[in-house]
Amino acid sequence: MITLKEALSKSHDELKEILADIEQKAKASELNAYVGFESSGDGVPILIKDNIQVNGWSVTSGSKILQGYVAPYDATVITKLKENGLSCFGRSNMDEFAMGSTTESSFYGITKNPYDTSRVPGGSSGGAAAAVAGGIAIAALGSDTGGSIRQPAAYCGCVGMKPTYGRVSRYGLGAYASSLDQIGPITQNVEDAAILYDIIKGHDERDSTSADMPNEKTIIDDNRKLTIAVIDNYISEADNDIKAGYAKAVKALQDAGHTIIHKNMQNTKYDIATYYILATAEAATNLARFDGIRYGFRAESNNVSELYYNTRSEGFGEEVKRRILLGNFVLSSGYYDAYYLKAQKVRHLIRDEFNAIFDEADLILSPVAPSVAPLIGANHDPLEMYKSDMYTIAINLAGLPALSLPVDKNSDGMPVGLQLIAKAFDEQALFDGASSLEKHINY
Ligand code: GLN
Repeated sequence: MITLKEALSKSHDELKEILADIEQKAKASELNAYVGFESSGDGVPILIKDNIQVNGWSVTSGSKILQGYVAPYDATVITKLKENGLSCFGRSNMDEFAMGSTTESSFYGITKNPYDTSRVPGGSSGGAAAAVAGGIAIAALGSDTGGSIRQPAAYCGCVGMKPTYGRVSRYGLGAYASSLDQIGPITQNVEDAAILYDIIKGHDERDSTSADMPNEKTIIDDNRKLTIAVIDNYISEADNDIKAGYAKAVKALQDAGHTIIHKNMQNTKYDIATYYILATAEAATNLARFDGIRYGFRAESNNVSELYYNTRSEGFGEEVKRRILLGNFVLSSGYYDAYYLKAQKVRHLIRDEFNAIFDEADLILSPVAPSVAPLIGANHDPLEMYKSDMYTIAINLAGLPALSLPVDKNSDGMPVGLQLIAKAFDEQALFDGASSLEKHINY
């Protein structure tokens, strides 16, 4: 597949042909990466996750409860794509309401990993990563609340970037956990990620959490020498495939002239509990609006309370219901202080710990997931699935930018991805370091 950079220099006629080719291949593909094939024009086609509003397109967040709902406006990121001459093409599959790490919970069925179709592509932006890695999309937009861009990119051997919280407008993104969600690019390489990030970033009055910062263009300098921290006690929990990829990446970074420093983090054992308290609390609140009255699906019923009850019972899937229950529990008056408030405090400690490392380092190198992509159906226990988020969620809790890129393949040929993490609003260092690693690693 041609890269985004190459596609941007093509004429409209050439792009029409490319788009037709993508559409044909995507429709014939067994990956189930696409759940819709709408097109907004004949600019460079960007695949859009099914939780980002595109005016006039169906938007379901992978849920039955939004069946039949059509977006009445463009998300700000979509407006920016269109203003820059790009188009939207296709809806990518995702875990229901972006809750999941495997893309197995979508109402539209399971998406498969292009490297091995018996394995998951990761999630929740699994459709986007599978399509980009499987040669049926040039580039895609995903969303990352606790790893949903970076982890599928790592499982599928492509690049996924989560911007600093506030860098990219969330206006028009179906909310999962609003204090953690960010939209970001999933691409074939680091340069394309920077191009797409530059197009979508920037202050937006319509998002009150949007940062009003200078909006300089990213000019990647892959010769810049950086100080990169490795967190020794973090890596010990990953399996051998990941450890091997990690050692290889550290060596490549050293050979490229970067300085490696060693650090430990004390609070990592609280990451998962903190995230799953805060994310479910916010999700329960955000999903309260789906009641059968205003959006999408409405169940048969005889009166209004039955309408709410039946619509939510039939419309939401199992994982989403679990999180609504958990979220309402941690917010309930008897437990609020013990769980929600405590988690907010721990969130600050996690952020402070990252910031202390960034006093000495430009970047942190970390695994994205403790293993390569698991087999479809392997994660029956929700707690096991939550544990697989151990390397990604703290970055969202701290609001930091991070980029996942492929560095190795294991003996089965499955990709191993690692992430670089930067201090808030230092996407420049992130792209410089990632580009240098991409150049010096033999993937
Ligand atoms: N796997 C995490 C969750 O289920 C992260 C999902 C995401 O980033 N949207 O919450």
